[in-house]
Amino acid sequence: MERLQSIEETRSGRHRRGSFARGVATLSDWFHQPFDYMWILTYQSTRSLHRVIKSVIGAGVLLYMVASITMLLSPQGPTGVVATTWVLLVLVLQFAVAWFWFFGPLPGRWGLIAFGLFADLGLASVLATYQPLAAVTGCALFAISGAYFTYFVSPRWLVAHLVFSITFIDAMAVRAYTSQAYDFATIVAGSVVILGAVAGVPLFAHLAWTIITRDARRAALDPLTGLYNRRGWDSALEELWSRGFDKRHTLAVFLIDIDKFKRVNDQFGHDVGDSVIRLLSRRLETLFGDYGIIARTGGEEFLAAVTGDISLVEGLIERIGDALYNGSDQVPVTASVGVAVLDAESDLWDVGVSIVVRAGRIADSMMYRAKDAGGDRVLTAAL
Ligand code: GH3
Ligand code: MG
Ligand code: MG
Repeated sequence: MERLQSIEETRSGRHRRGSFARGVATLSDWFHQPFDYMWILTYQSTRSLHRVIKSVIGAGVLLYMVASITMLLSPQGPTGVVATTWVLLVLVLQFAVAWFWFFGPLPGRWGLIAFGLFADLGLASVLATYQPLAAVTGCALFAISGAYFTYFVSPRWLVAHLVFSITFIDAMAVRAYTSQAYDFATIVAGSVVILGAVAGVPLFAHLAWTIITRDARRAALDPLTGLYNRRGWDSALEELWSRGFDKRHTLAVFLIDIDKFKRVNDQFGHDVGDSVIRLLSRRLETLFGDYGIIARTGGEEFLAAVTGDISLVEGLIERIGDALYNGSDQVPVTASVGVAVLDAESDLWDVGVSIVVRAGRIADSMMYRAKDAGGDRVLTAAL
């Protein structure tokens, strides 16, 4: 009986550690996730929002400025020449930064990070010039920069922001207490409310945001290969087209179908078939990954679209056959490839993203011709 009980305890202990370890692993994944600083610049769905996003952030800076200016007139605000001069200097910087958000381009990675640092350090340095309780209250503004950190920089920077703002709020609370003008309970109650808003809201929003966008990202990918699926391909086309259009590139769409793949399955089994599909996916990524997008659109069928100067495109067309075939593979396979090329100078670029779709259909018919001619070849057509 005792023995049984101790086994139960060990089990439940192990179980607890298991779920604790899983929790730690989830948090660690969240903390270390790669952060796509360019999403806001490149995702088509955010493009129409650029002006709105910039204006909202610019308005946030103006809000900080209104608070600073009002506090200059308050007895709770900065006193003395040094403190007042510093607040005025920060106001000038804030004005420049707000102007940039309203009228400048969207900043890149380091611009986004620099703005977050400016928001936090500027706010802290101004609050430090206020009377103690006003400083604690003003710390609520860290919640606004927290919202910014939630969406525009990586989780690492969000955590840095939280550590900094929480430490600063605690320091301001201690300062308020040691100033002896306020009682302990008032200061604790005030700082708890502000800490809740400053720490809780961004953390919760960021976790929810990560979970939701992870599902959205997964919905665009093929689980076997990690390449885009048809849906991911469709939503990536616009960006590919507009980049090619802006840079006056040549475009090529490739349709790749493995030859006699049914035989691979029949002779070696479905699992070996799957590993052949994965192997070819990796080779397609190596060949095309730096220049465009790749999708698995059917069982043993892939689409790739690249843009670049004509010599790059011609080089890829020349290399694709050899890049996919390796005679020393466990199961060497060949592919039939159809290519459609849209010249950099072509007026068809003006048609818009649908020209890439049309190129895909032409690549498809070229692939069938390659197949009819016996497979293991690349046939190219110009649009
Ligand atoms: P062809 O040279 O004309 O292209 O002949 P094929 O055998 O490659 O083409 P077909 O379209 O007749 O057959 C494709 C085969 O691919 C049929 C199917 O069993 C297999 N297949 C489709 N999806 C998968 C998959 O996810 N894994 C594996 N192992 N096989 C798949
Ligand atoms: Mg096939
Ligand atoms: Mg096929």
